[in-house]
Amino acid sequence: MTARIPYLGRFAPSPTGPLHIGSLVAAIASYLDAKAHHGQWLVRIEDVDGARNVEGADQHILHSLQRCGMLWDGEVTWQTRRYPLYQQALEQLGDLVYPCGCSRREIADSQVNQSLGPHQAPIYPGTCRHGLAPGKVGRALRLKVPQAPHCVLSFEDRWFGHYSQDLTAEVGDFIIVRADRYWAYQLAVVVDDGAQGITDIVRGVDLIDSTPRQLYLQQVLGLPQPSYLHVPVVLNENGDKMSKQTGAIAFDDGSDPQQLLRAAMLPAARFLGLDVQAETIDAFWRAAIPAWAQLLQTLPRQP
Ligand code: GLU
Repeated sequence: MTARIPYLGRFAPSPTGPLHIGSLVAAIASYLDAKAHHGQWLVRIEDVDGARNVEGADQHILHSLQRCGMLWDGEVTWQTRRYPLYQQALEQLGDLVYPCGCSRREIADSQVNQSLGPHQAPIYPGTCRHGLAPGKVGRALRLKVPQAPHCVLSFEDRWFGHYSQDLTAEVGDFIIVRADRYWAYQLAVVVDDGAQGITDIVRGVDLIDSTPRQLYLQQVLGLPQPSYLHVPVVLNENGDKMSKQTGAIAFDDGSDPQQLLRAAMLPAARFLGLDVQAETIDAFWRAAIPAWAQLLQTLPRQP
């Protein structure tokens, strides 16, 4: 019998503002999954997108996690302190990477994107794949996606079941270093999950369509593939994911723990489908961990 590698999970918030009910749902789900598997749970601050960071948001998030009783294992990591790892990965990708001089407008206007719906991300048509056109300056760096049939990447999501994406038809060569020179999320997240030895990723379903890109990066970098569980995300009344940009309200104003429990933790647990009653934060976790273990028995749910 082969022993299972010990569970190592993580919560990886971007410090774009305080935690709100949407990000709390992801935090609670990843924490519960780690605890239900007797695993460890890390926190990594994904501050690689310098354009969106809000000063002090990282400390605010960490403080809220502690106040909710979500205590992480080991040291918190910050992506901005890990650039040498991303540089190393970039070098490893070698000829699969090329400079791209296209603007967003040029990509959106290209033939392949003419029939896209309003919520679909534009597909990169491969314009700069074989070299920059005369007069163009390389701005971003893109990674070549594989040719058919290797461009179809699939995995079994623990919540949503089978998920498959054709990287060539649905995404195209994707950015790993942005035009503003920041490391792209896709590269940083894969390098960090690999370097930290994360075995299980639990996060919002808004990221499920990034997962095939991440599986592909794991393959080319020779990293193991973690297991994935994407949880439903809280939507606002317009049907958009809750985020600071869509008006999500921070729940932790430093008021008493009872308020935190009633106004945020219990609603977040109910949103995940957990039947939890509790008068204190300790009692919340005592009830929520077995409730999560029970919920896992009902997965995957087909959409
Ligand atoms: N940093 C991402 C976010 O806050 C989450 C990334 C991930 O869990 O892979 O949305």
